[in-house]
Amino acid sequence: MIVFDKVVKRYPGDYVALGGVSFEIRHGELVVLSGHSGAGKSTLLKMIPAIERPTAGMVSINGQDVSRLRASAIPYLRRNLGLVLQESRLLFDRSVFDNVMLPLRITGHLPRDAAKRVDAALERVGLAGRGREMPPGLSGGEQQRVAIARAIVNRPSILIADEPTAHLDSAYARDIAGLFKSFNEAGVTIIVSTHDERLFSQWRPRRMVLGKGLLMRDFAA
Ligand code: ADP
Ligand code: ADP
Repeated sequence: MIVFDKVVKRYPGDYVALGGVSFEIRHGELVVLSGHSGAGKSTLLKMIPAIERPTAGMVSINGQDVSRLRASAIPYLRRNLGLVLQESRLLFDRSVFDNVMLPLRITGHLPRDAAKRVDAALERVGLAGRGREMPPGLSGGEQQRVAIARAIVNRPSILIADEPTAHLDSAYARDIAGLFKSFNEAGVTIIVSTHDERLFSQWRPRRMVLGKGLLMRDFAA
């Protein structure tokens, strides 16, 4: 369902972040992406929601070529994707509830339906009843759970997370990893990058290793 075909990404200044990467991810897979800092993990993940576009090659999702998608079609693409990226910060002056509600405002849900979805998403990440709190009062792990609730509130079939356990203590990091596993068990395709593959190893995910912009290894455990 997600196909990368000889994807190259060259940033301005001719820096080659991805040097021709090919793979296919099927519906329902749990994929853990690792590799040194600067290997191209964020760049690869950002191509799926068309935040970055390939310089050459093709990216397709469910048969749709997203590498050449018109700008007007991108919101429809992203509606089916949950994103927890490095820059997915919370709004610190809005409540937990309002932060999770944000994507629903964009898609134009009715208020009552939206509120139900927000409550369900908060429950799903273990933050039931915490909607009125403000993000600065939460622990790092709880803030990351809010970001994840925001990513799943539209019930995406694909969830993409870029180092969601960075900066978390190991207990929080394990909790967050378990949360991704539980979404995967509910049928969601998960692609998560991490510096610590061991967090996910007990579930025997598919492991992809990037090095210097190339796919060095790709195997099921
Ligand atoms: P990773 O997530 O594995 O650390 P990135 O995809 O963030 O790797 O970065 C890959 C390489 O591309 C790095 O050398 C980085 O400096 C470079 N890079 C990333 N984004 C940009 C950008 N917007 N402009 C120029 N270079 C970039
Ligand atoms: P219900 O279907 O009764 O709302 P669920 O436990 O199925 O309750 O879902 C609660 C929340 O968890 C959903 O609103 C959604 O945010 C998230 N969720 C559950 N399953 C999925 C899924 N397959 N894909 C994406 N998000 C999901």
